Amino acid sequence: MTQDPWENLFTIIDGRREELVDLAQALIRFPTVNPPGEAYRPCAEFIGRRLSARGFAVEYVHAAGTPGDCERHPRINVIARREGAAPGPCVHLRSHIDVVQTGAGWTLDPFAAIVKDGKLYGRGACDMKGGLAASIIAVEALIDSGASLPGTLEISGTVDEESGGYGGVHYLAERGWFSAPRVDHVIIPEPLNVDRVCIGHRGVWWAEIETHGRMAHGSMPFLGDCAVRHMNAVIDRLERDLYPKLAARRTDMPVVPSGARHSTLNINSIHGGQAESAGYPAPCVPDSCRMVIDRRLLIEENMDGVKGEVRELLEQLVKDRDGFSYDLRDIFEVQPTMADRNGPVARSTAAAIRRVIGREPEFICSPGTYDQKHIDRIGKLRDCIAYGPGILDLAHQPDEYVLIEDMVNSAKVMAMAARSLLFGTA
Ligand SMILES: [Zn+2]
Repeated sequence: MTQDPWENLFTIIDGRREELVDLAQALIRFPTVNPPGEAYRPCAEFIGRRLSARGFAVEYVHAAGTPGDCERHPRINVIARREGAAPGPCVHLRSHIDVVQTGAGWTLDPFAAIVKDGKLYGRGACDMKGGLAASIIAVEALIDSGASLPGTLEISGTVDEESGGYGGVHYLAERGWFSAPRVDHVIIPEPLNVDRVCIGHRGVWWAEIETHGRMAHGSMPFLGDCAVRHMNAVIDRLERDLYPKLAARRTDMPVVPSGARHSTLNINSIHGGQAESAGYPAPCVPDSCRMVIDRRLLIEENMDGVKGEVRELLEQLVKDRDGFSYDLRDIFEVQPTMADRNGPVARSTAAAIRRVIGREPEFICSPGTYDQKHIDRIGKLRDCIAYGPGILDLAHQPDEYVLIEDMVNSAKVMAMAARSLLFGTA
């Protein structure tokens, strides 16, 4: 009687449940808070030591000169690679090692990695050290399952995802670490719930609009020109013209929550006039008002069009409103991205979810961005998805946790998907 190869693999992973928890705890105990980028080197070296003991060739890539990189906070990425017995595709499991600030509201020590009632608590438990630990256990179990594997397995721990990925995946992608022929398929174990496959994300455009005025004494505002009132006119146009247009646009991307299936625009901040000094406001007509907008775009939109419609609205105000002048500055932009849900990595992960979890997987897109953008746009690698344990809503929250059961299940899913991809049976 031939043994089911999956059952063998799953039995190994079940037997390593404690080891998986220990590994996730050890990772959480590195306080890799970003900013400023604390403890990146020891965390990367911990991952590297573990994987080199399992036969991986380990490289550390220092993203010198990228934002925040300094002697005290070097941007150190780790990439581990293991070639199999025969040629074949390369499957890469990519996690970020940085976590956001702890913030207020914790009832437990955020870096003690406490286990309670089947949950592992700590900053990064959910986003995404639980996923990183699960991916390491998945790959090790796959190697130990006895099958002589073709192709190549890679695992990376990269930095600065929470601040745009410039010292992490962006830096690596620009240097060919995420391109064919080195890599073929990528799974990013971000916390997106254990039965969902995330195939992409919306795009972003952050920009600053500044309106100009003329200073005068606050008791004689008619002698000046108030930049805040000009900004009010901008907001009025946004409300009347742009917001209804954005709300009417609906995407075919399966974005969750469904409110994000439209184009959206948030006003992130607005600053006008002089700051109070010693609790006393300046009696002046403001000569400048600045507003930061956060526009999220759909795969059906293009960046030039998105910027163009804001500029058009401002140009219209130049014509319609006395004294109106403005500057529009780009701050940050990311193109939307979406992998093929019938591509090998999405298909094999979905099949593994059906087998391991016993549910029909949901294909989703993320309302915000993550490092898939760099892999797609810079690495030109389209076969990339995000899949991992952890409940998306808990990311970045106080008392963040990951369910141990979800870590075990996602390790099985990743191991099964990776095996199918290596053997080309996906
Ligand atoms: Zn994350």
